[in-house]
Amino acid sequence: MSLFFFLFSLERPRYVLLSFDVEPVDGDGSVSLVLASLERMNAKRSAAGVGAVNVTFFVTGEYALKNRDVLARMRADGFEIACHSFSHPLFLKRNVSQKRDEIFRCERALVIAGVPKPVGFRAPYTILDFETAGLLERNGFVYDASALDYSAFLYGVFNDTVEVPVSTFLGLPLEDVVWAYYLHSPSLFFWLIDHQYDGVVSVIFHPHHVSGYLSRFEGSVAYLSERNVSFISNYYFTEVTDGAFKGIGAR
Ligand SMILES: [Zn+2]
Repeated sequence: MSLFFFLFSLERPRYVLLSFDVEPVDGDGSVSLVLASLERMNAKRSAAGVGAVNVTFFVTGEYALKNRDVLARMRADGFEIACHSFSHPLFLKRNVSQKRDEIFRCERALVIAGVPKPVGFRAPYTILDFETAGLLERNGFVYDASALDYSAFLYGVFNDTVEVPVSTFLGLPLEDVVWAYYLHSPSLFFWLIDHQYDGVVSVIFHPHHVSGYLSRFEGSVAYLSERNVSFISNYYFTEVTDGAFKGIGAR
């Protein structure tokens, strides 16, 4: 029995990437609840001498312009803020100049809201197409963290933009398939987070969903903490893996 648990613990991922896609639908209320939860956990961890939970917020430009105080709080807490387009359109239905516009306007909005120029991107609906992959690379983005990479076939792996993995279930992001769209099962969702075996747990949350389940969220963080993982930002993941995931389409 103890051997089983020993092997089980070896299987645990070392890195946990928690990210939140922040859009106008989230308002300031649900995002503030999520921030309060993270602040509460980090205050306790700091008192216990345990490393902080770092997370990444992928924020739309529209949201940033309307909620500068919320972004200031994310910054003050030390969390990474990355680009999630300006107005959250389906990029597959936009032409290349509209896509460029969505990325630039998001960058500008974040800077206006007092955030440094973002180095990370997650496409709306987490669908990355090859034109957008090219735009990201040419405009100095360090990484993309979209779950569904349609760029690989056409774009190849000859680029320097890192593809940060996203945990999926049946090929779709966990939250989308298990919680938001199909199964409507927060308990299964959190169970799957607690029982991922792929080396990296990388989960997308939507504040307006998870804000109603913050004690369960904190429970998952506590469960994973006991397994000696580091909760790191998406950007830091690209640093610690040192190019292991380099190249959009390299998976
Ligand atoms: Zn989104």
